Amino acid sequence: MNRESISKFAHTFSQNPLNRGETERRDEQWISDQINNPNSKFMVLHDLNILIEETGQRQSLRWLPQEEIKDLELQSTPVLLGIQDEITHFAISISDASASNFIDSDKNEFIDARACASFLEPEIIGIIAQARIQINWHQKNKFCSVCGEPNEIYRGGQVLRCSACKNETFPRTDPVIIMVVTNGNTCLLGQSRGRLSQTNTYSALAGFMDQGESIEEAVAREVMEEAGLEVKNVTYHSSQPWPFPNSLMIGCHAEAKTTDIHIDDEEMVSVKWFSKEEVLLALKGENPNLNLPAPIAIAHHLIKSWAQAT
Ligand SMILES: [Zn+2]
Repeated sequence: MNRESISKFAHTFSQNPLNRGETERRDEQWISDQINNPNSKFMVLHDLNILIEETGQRQSLRWLPQEEIKDLELQSTPVLLGIQDEITHFAISISDASASNFIDSDKNEFIDARACASFLEPEIIGIIAQARIQINWHQKNKFCSVCGEPNEIYRGGQVLRCSACKNETFPRTDPVIIMVVTNGNTCLLGQSRGRLSQTNTYSALAGFMDQGESIEEAVAREVMEEAGLEVKNVTYHSSQPWPFPNSLMIGCHAEAKTTDIHIDDEEMVSVKWFSKEEVLLALKGENPNLNLPAPIAIAHHLIKSWAQAT
C-alpha cells in the first residue's frame, strides 16, 4: 500500500504493513496449517505487554518461530494478524509461568505498547496496535453475551461464535473525536483531570462519540460539554488507531462560533485560549507555561498543523 497516496499523516500505531488475509482467514484448515507451519512467526504478549529482546545495544520485537511456542501455555488460540512475504504472523498471549521463563533471561522484557512506540520501527508499532487490541478483546469476550456459554474463535480471531446459541461477536473499535477549536489567531486547549494536569500539559479536547451521532455533531457536543462553546465549520484532519484499549482517534478542526468558556469542572481542570505565538514556542519546547502532547499523539499534529499553517 502506498501510504503517501492515502494520507500525508502517518500517525504512530497506524502503519501496519501486513496483508490481513481477509480471503485466507475464511479457510479454518488453512489457519490451522499456518499455526503449525515452521515458517510462521508469533508475537508474544503477557498482560498486554510485548516481548522485546535486546541484541547488542538495540531493542527489537522478538518474533518467536513456531517451534518455540510448543512448550508455552497459551491463553487462547493464536490470533491471526496477517501475511507478509508469504510468512503468516500471529499474536499469542501467554501465562504468568511461561512469561517468567522469558524474563529469567536479562535480554528479554515485556514492554508496554506506548513505551515500545519510542524505539521500534513505525511498521512494527502498527502491528503491535493490531495485536494488543485483538488480544485484549479476546480476553474480555470468552463467554457469549447472550447466553453465557463459551465463545469459540473463527476466522483467525476476527469472529467469536457462541458454542451454544451461535451468537456472533466481532472485534470493536471505539471512535473518539479529538478537536482543536480555533478563533482567528488563538486556539482552545484543555487540561483534563489526571495525567495532563500533573505535567502542566494542555491538549486538544476529546471524547467518545455517542450512539447515532455524526462526527461533526460529536465535535459540537463535546466542545459544548467541556468548554461551553458553540462551534461551526468542523473539518476532518486525519485519524489514529489508539490501542488503549481499542479506540480510533478522529482528528478534527473547528471554528468557534462563541468564545466565552464555561468549563465542565468534573472532567476538566482548565480550558483556555492560547495564541499562535505561545503554541509555536511550546512546540519548540521553549514555553515554560505550556507543555503540549508529544508527537506519538494525534493531538500534537492537530495543534501543529493549525499553528504552522500560513
Ligand atoms: Zn450464546
